[in-house]
Amino acid sequence: MDANKLKKFKSLVSEADAILVGAGAGLSAAAGLTYSGKRFTDNFPDFIERYHLTDMYSTAFYPFETPEEFWAYFSRHIKINRYDPGPLGLYKKLYSLVSGKPAFVITTNVDGQFALAGFPEENIFATQGDYALFQCSTPCHDTLYDNHDMVMAMVEKQENFRIPPELIPKCPVCGERLDPHLRKDGTFVENSDWHAAAARYSAFIGKWKENRLLIIELGVGFNTPAIIRWPFEKMAAAMPGATLVRINKDNPEPSSALPDDTLIFQDDINRIVSSLLNG
Ligand SMILES: [Zn+2]
Repeated sequence: MDANKLKKFKSLVSEADAILVGAGAGLSAAAGLTYSGKRFTDNFPDFIERYHLTDMYSTAFYPFETPEEFWAYFSRHIKINRYDPGPLGLYKKLYSLVSGKPAFVITTNVDGQFALAGFPEENIFATQGDYALFQCSTPCHDTLYDNHDMVMAMVEKQENFRIPPELIPKCPVCGERLDPHLRKDGTFVENSDWHAAAARYSAFIGKWKENRLLIIELGVGFNTPAIIRWPFEKMAAAMPGATLVRINKDNPEPSSALPDDTLIFQDDINRIVSSLLNG
């Protein structure tokens, strides 16, 4: 790890008037929410044996034949990725790092970790949904439903890779199935809360665009670069007071020309954030 770059990052944090954080899957993986390897094999030995599943990414596309089987798998998936972990150390460190500064988070992660770690809900824009919520699959209306109790019941009552049919989540309005509130296609619900968060995100940028705005991008790859990655590069290039810091192990290269003060780290996010806090 480059000590000079780290020192520069540290002074950017202390001199910033405001901090914008953008986070993708790489951040939660670095925080410990890995979707493959031991975390997968420890939690799904039965499903792996029966369905030959390889990791928690590809199971999102596995064609379970019945809703009873889908929910037997997915209720456990939601439980271990959303309800069991609690606030993870890396997210708590990020919260300490920005504390005392006006800060806003935009994230494609759906695990709720920023809020769990202490970031105020009103300063988070989770663009792609949240494991903790259900929506109508049609969708016939735009209410989102807290799914904690439904998920726990499905986890508890499943037997032989099936939940009891009466536990299949159904829309209380039209009777069609409920889906996890995760963006997979055009049925994703963007309700008034979603639009309000989008508006607060724009307002935050508008408010600080003439100031020293530190833009920190963490683990954002190329699944959905138009949400965080490309706009962040554009802001860094267009706003004289803004500086972009990117931490990305796999995809560090910028897609467009960036100002000289841009900092790009290819190290583990944990190591960098810990070094910033400790030294
Ligand atoms: Zn409905």
